Amino acid sequence: MPDYQYVLYERIGAAARISHNRPERRNAESSVMLREMDDALARAIGDEGVRVIIIAGTGDHFSAGHDLKEGEAERSAFTVEERYAFEEDLYYGLCMRIWDCPKPTIAQVQGACVAGAFMLANMCDLMVASEDAFFADPVVNSMGAAAVEVLIHPTVLGLRLAKDILYTGRRLDAREAFACGMVSRLVTRPKLEETTLALAEQIAGSPPFALKLIKRSLHRMMDIGGLRAGLEAHFDTHQLSHASSEFARVKEAGMSKAIGQGKKMVSS
Ligand code: ZN
Repeated sequence: MPDYQYVLYERIGAAARISHNRPERRNAESSVMLREMDDALARAIGDEGVRVIIIAGTGDHFSAGHDLKEGEAERSAFTVEERYAFEEDLYYGLCMRIWDCPKPTIAQVQGACVAGAFMLANMCDLMVASEDAFFADPVVNSMGAAAVEVLIHPTVLGLRLAKDILYTGRRLDAREAFACGMVSRLVTRPKLEETTLALAEQIAGSPPFALKLIKRSLHRMMDIGGLRAGLEAHFDTHQLSHASSEFARVKEAGMSKAIGQGKKMVSS
């Protein structure tokens, strides 16, 4: 098994489970972690014995989202071009590689699933969540940016609920996420892992080539409906918001405030 610093890669039966593994920082997605996740995804896709891929998080939370402290320390002086290239590869690109994964994918979610982690989890085909799970994308309010890089929200929530959480930055609890269809299975916290593995095992029993084709057809239908063009357009718009004076004002007021709000979002 590969020796990653911030990702745990496990083979369980016909499933590969790729977990955010930085529980002491609420699984904040650092650039190293996302690169490791990208590598783990490619490994699982390339392994013929893997029929289903689970994306999870160790500890109390799936993930609090992108590591804003690292971003402040390492990328606050980035030019527009540097930021575009970084986010195109590690944020947008990685997410779309999960979306385009030819094997079935399941997100296993407990605790916080916020902002960057919200978009990443929602790239999976199915989602199993425990009752303590909560979801949010507070980026419009906390950072003055046009949400996160992949605007998957209306696809998984419906337009009205997407506007509701994006305009207010509020939390969506597990029950509401289940009721709107974003969460496929809602279980108690002790049942999370076994329910996800049972679902993975059930799917692993289906003919893999037919599964690959049905996923491809479903995604093609979404693309014909404009999904991919819409996501690409939003990525560019998101980059524009990084270059706005509003974003600069929020940054000037202190990224620490945004980081603090993120903390509050996770702990309150
Ligand atoms: Zn961004």
